[in-house]
Amino acid sequence: MKNARHTSGFAPAKKSLGQNFLCDPNIARKIVEAVDIRPGDKVLEIGPGRGALTEHALKRDPGRYVVLELDDALADALSARHPQIEVVRGNALAYPWTGLAGDDGWKIFGNLPYNVASPLIWDIVSQARFERAVFMVQLEAAQRLVAPSGGRQYGALSVFVQSHARAELLFRVPPQVFRPQPKVTSAVVRFFLLPTPLDAEQGKRLAATLRICFQMRRKQLGTILKSNNIPDYDALLRALDIDPVQRPETLAPERFQALSKALPFDFLA
Ligand code: SAM
Repeated sequence: MKNARHTSGFAPAKKSLGQNFLCDPNIARKIVEAVDIRPGDKVLEIGPGRGALTEHALKRDPGRYVVLELDDALADALSARHPQIEVVRGNALAYPWTGLAGDDGWKIFGNLPYNVASPLIWDIVSQARFERAVFMVQLEAAQRLVAPSGGRQYGALSVFVQSHARAELLFRVPPQVFRPQPKVTSAVVRFFLLPTPLDAEQGKRLAATLRICFQMRRKQLGTILKSNNIPDYDALLRALDIDPVQRPETLAPERFQALSKALPFDFLA
């Protein structure tokens, strides 16, 4: 039924926007505790929705509270309920994260829409400067974010994120605590930027390296570089102590960073 409203007073959840609203105040509190908001802090929440996390976060008396919400109706309702917060209406994937660069100290968090969680975390860890970030994502994505080298879940996302931040899986969240219920389990992951994160140029090189390596993750690294026309690939790998028969998933993030520095610059084009 068009314009149908739930007993909550909100419009029905929009599947296209990944709207699975958290309905368990204990879990909301636990997530907010992981963000560790102190009085006066600068906080940015992604996808506040009906405000399940916002309510708890505001009790901690932050100095600035910015939210990014794509759903205008939810943004309007939140703004009316909490006039003190700064509501940015729009797509978090288009947010200028580098704008937070010169201004460290932000705490970024959210129960992320599942369809955009991984690309969003990729952008945030590589572009924003933050004190800590805490995100709820699908368990499968959480496991990829924290995966060590050598396993099936280790891939481009793991290497890229772990090259910028320390990522830790804090706890799992069952589907029953959301309305509507998702089909999958969720998990909360916390990130702290590394003391010397990669700069934009290094990040670009690493992303290009990961693109070619994980496109052919079952192949050996020597074969991958050869089929990408990298000159002297065998000597290049050996100089980095990488055996050309190794497969991409066996290389730790630091090895990928070293490889991305050694690859010829025009390979990025
Ligand atoms: N934080 C609320 C909670 O925990 O109940 C809502 C979480 S819900 C999983 C995701 C929220 O992100 C929704 O409010 C949705 O409208 C919003 N959203 C979806 N895609 C978005 C995007 N690209 N940028 C910003 N917000 C988005």
